[in-house]
Amino acid sequence: MLPVLPPPCIPPAADSSSTPLDSGPDRGNPLNTTAILSVSNLQVRYPVSGRRMLTAIDDLSLTLHHGETLAVVGESGCGKSTLARAICGLTPISAGEIRFGGERLHGGDRRAVRRIGKHIQYVFQDPLDALDPRMTIAEILAEPLRHHFPKLTRGERQRRIDTALDAVALSPRHLTRYPHEFSGGQAQRIGIARALICEPSILICDEPVSALDVSIQAQIINLLQDIQRERRLAMLFISHDLRVVRHIADRMMVLYLGRLMEAGPAAALFDQPRHPYTRALLAAIPKADPAEEQERLEATPPLGNDLPSPLDPPSGCVFRTRCPEAAEPCKTYRHPPMELSLSHAVNCVHATTPDG
Ligand code: ADP
Ligand code: MG
Repeated sequence: MLPVLPPPCIPPAADSSSTPLDSGPDRGNPLNTTAILSVSNLQVRYPVSGRRMLTAIDDLSLTLHHGETLAVVGESGCGKSTLARAICGLTPISAGEIRFGGERLHGGDRRAVRRIGKHIQYVFQDPLDALDPRMTIAEILAEPLRHHFPKLTRGERQRRIDTALDAVALSPRHLTRYPHEFSGGQAQRIGIARALICEPSILICDEPVSALDVSIQAQIINLLQDIQRERRLAMLFISHDLRVVRHIADRMMVLYLGRLMEAGPAAALFDQPRHPYTRALLAAIPKADPAEEQERLEATPPLGNDLPSPLDPPSGCVFRTRCPEAAEPCKTYRHPPMELSLSHAVNCVHATTPDG
């Protein structure tokens, strides 16, 4: 059984008028707090050349609730996709546990993995890459149904296809076309329709707009947000665009070299970031107003040197080699197991123990 959690207290939406997107999420609505997915002490390691192991995710725990959007942020190489892929069963895990509605996802029971698989669907970064060029849209949409719901009648299959097309504002006349006949934005709509066709309860979106033209990114983000709300989906939303995250996320987690640095309600992290890494990421967000942008550029020291190799992470705090606040105790800091919970938690020697 999963623990029953108290209702979260999520502050009202912050002003998001500087983004080209519609109004912020309805954060006044308390989430339905039934945990649908729980990840405990997850570790994912990849074998690399020279019989070494690269730790891409280390000791990470989270719960995902019905109807919430959880954002995962951090620079490229921090382990975001690895986390998403592990949750979908696309990448084997080295330690820890992933449970969907109480059922273990990784245990070698293929039937359980298959049963759970239809509930957790993935929207890929590059839609054209993810769609088989030899299949028509009708075939692309029918395939997951054949796999997960082989007993559907023809009529029921058609109903699901129509519903999914309608959800992404494509028309039935698109069904006979091939992926290359579509623009990037339309192709991503097809990718989203394919993810919806099994009527999943979790949608995993791994940088779903970063391969798209900037002019249509907001459309796709708004579409995902509408779908998430209407269907009360739990959404794991990976992005390095913090303006989008601010707009869309209920909770968020900041990853650095596979470790959780800070996590909690999105508004709390944006308004009172407590980890120097979160502060650095926020300071890197460009301002819409030119004068404010000039001020930001003058005031903000960039993150400096590159991400250290995850094959040879710094001792102590993994962020210390780039941290503006690094001090002696950081060299021997031991990251405690970090959990995304409903309160605001931070993984830094300078921060006092997380509340709660
Ligand atoms: P992100 O999505 O945040 O950019 P990834 O999860 O893709 O990060 O990668 C995390 C780390 O794991 C990176 O150092 C990356 O090079 C490494 N990595 C990812 N996939 C593999 C793999 N299949 N084999 C070896 N290393 C990998
Ligand atoms: Mg990635």
